[in-house]
Amino acid sequence: MATPEAELQRFGPADAAWLAAHAANASAEALIAHVLSDRAWGRVAVVSSFGAESAVLLDLVAEVDRRVPVLFVDTGRLFPETLAYARELASHLRLSDVRWIRPEPQELARVDGKGLRWSYDPDGCCAVRKVQPLARALLAFDSWISGRKRFQADTRAGLAKVEADGARLKINPLADWSPEMLRARAAERRLPPHPLVAEGYPSIGCMPCTTKVLPGEDPRAGRWRGWDKTECGIHTPPGSEPAF
Ligand code: SF4
Repeated sequence: MATPEAELQRFGPADAAWLAAHAANASAEALIAHVLSDRAWGRVAVVSSFGAESAVLLDLVAEVDRRVPVLFVDTGRLFPETLAYARELASHLRLSDVRWIRPEPQELARVDGKGLRWSYDPDGCCAVRKVQPLARALLAFDSWISGRKRFQADTRAGLAKVEADGARLKINPLADWSPEMLRARAAERRLPPHPLVAEGYPSIGCMPCTTKVLPGEDPRAGRWRGWDKTECGIHTPPGSEPAF
């Protein structure tokens, strides 16, 4: 008997390779337009943290279709500025289907009842507050678009524009964009910046796990500073999340 996950299987590595080959020389705009308009790629969502560099991807998506579902994981630990920015940017771009995804209350109470799991088990905290809520939300979709870029960290240097992500495809239209390209597009389009960028936060996650970054540091150096952790887990292979 097929598992629920197997029943949802729409795409695999061969599909990712096919789309990657066709996207190799495509602009981000063209890749986004193709994925959102060609029904072959199924139900597509955009996943956004409404962080420091989220505006450009969301603007590119809005140019194609403002009704595309945008999944925003509100971990319960985000900066108030991020919550306000999510509302501001969604309104500015007239995105009509931003979905605030939250942890499941009973699971959160069981795993992180005191709200301090981040301080001794950030992987477990990310799992219950980010990875699992997003995984549940993505069950309704066949493909998703992420805003990751290669320049953001050494761990992302080899990022492909298209990846197989379990049962789905994950598309990274901005993978080969530089900081200069992002700044130019944001300026050209007069996109509102996240207010914390001007205060020294080039990468913005949850409040307890984000610090300012010094000149010359990796843009993500302020994330989980002091821990041997560089990703929250939503971009690691399915099945590798911690179990409780
Ligand atoms: S970034 Fe920190 S607070 Fe947010 S979910 Fe992960 S460990 Fe928890």
